[in-house]
Amino acid sequence: MEIKKIMVLGAGQMGGGIAQVAAQAGYPVVLRDIKDEFVQRGMKTIEKNLQRNVEKGRLSAEEMAAVLGRIAPTLSLEDGRDVDLVIEAVIEDVSLKREIFTALDTICPPQAILASNTSSVPITQIAAVTRRPEKVIGMHFMNPVPVMKLVEVIRGIATSDETYRVIEELSRKLDKVPVEVNDFPGFVSNRVLLPMINEAVYCLMEGVGTAEGIDTVMRLGMNHPMGPLALADLIGLDTCLAIMEVLYDGFKDSKYRPCPLLRKYVTAGWLGRKTGRGFYVYET
Ligand code: NAD
Repeated sequence: MEIKKIMVLGAGQMGGGIAQVAAQAGYPVVLRDIKDEFVQRGMKTIEKNLQRNVEKGRLSAEEMAAVLGRIAPTLSLEDGRDVDLVIEAVIEDVSLKREIFTALDTICPPQAILASNTSSVPITQIAAVTRRPEKVIGMHFMNPVPVMKLVEVIRGIATSDETYRVIEELSRKLDKVPVEVNDFPGFVSNRVLLPMINEAVYCLMEGVGTAEGIDTVMRLGMNHPMGPLALADLIGLDTCLAIMEVLYDGFKDSKYRPCPLLRKYVTAGWLGRKTGRGFYVYET
């Protein structure tokens, strides 16, 4: 099976980036969100990213116009009736994702592959609401999508070899590096990253070091481009907590207990960069 047309659901941080790289690779893309202002905001961000590439001489003005011309914004899920692949990138809400996959299963052609960009919801659980679990797969892009090379390709329990092969090939066409991963809580990326961030929050809570001190140890000592607390602020502390809860619930192992200080910050509404305050304070 060959992918000819792609639908992306959610025109936020991730969905916009996915639509951009797919259109840059030459695919016609339908980009769907629930309100016109959200789709327009997504399109504006894509335009700004492409414009920056034009200014840096990486893209011509004609190519930019062609890329934008390949993205059709929409509010209608029904526009998925003639696509070969849907990549879902709506908010991280399991019941919403299940609802969307139930609807996609009736709207999309029977051969279409349904992929999710979820950070933590089990692919097997999403696939179970459809009549095509063999065609459901995880395509976990990293943020920012146009820059980051990795796609974690997650096989649910029923994902077929053919579906995996098509998505692996597509990822390469999008100029990404696919890595095959099985469906366990947090996959690989978040299972390894989030406990490190959580442990950094414990170090802060116990007074082992200051936020700046902890981040500097990891930057200069381990050559990480960013310290774990600064990275948590970028990801969003609510998202970090949600992923720790998924690991804790999924494994029932106390080593994944979310740090109480992380929970306290989330309760206070200190969610990181997006609210102007997390482990650091940001100008808003
Ligand atoms: P976001 O809040 O920036 O964007 C989500 C978008 O989905 C919003 O524009 C919202 O209006 C839209 N939406 C809500 N319901 C919808 C529906 N029914 N149909 C279409 N659109 C709908 O969130 P994001 O950071 O782009 O995250 C999206 C997904 O990607 C989540 O599952 C998240 O876990 C995953 N993810 C995020 C990151 C990250 O660093 N932000 C990294 C990897 C994966």
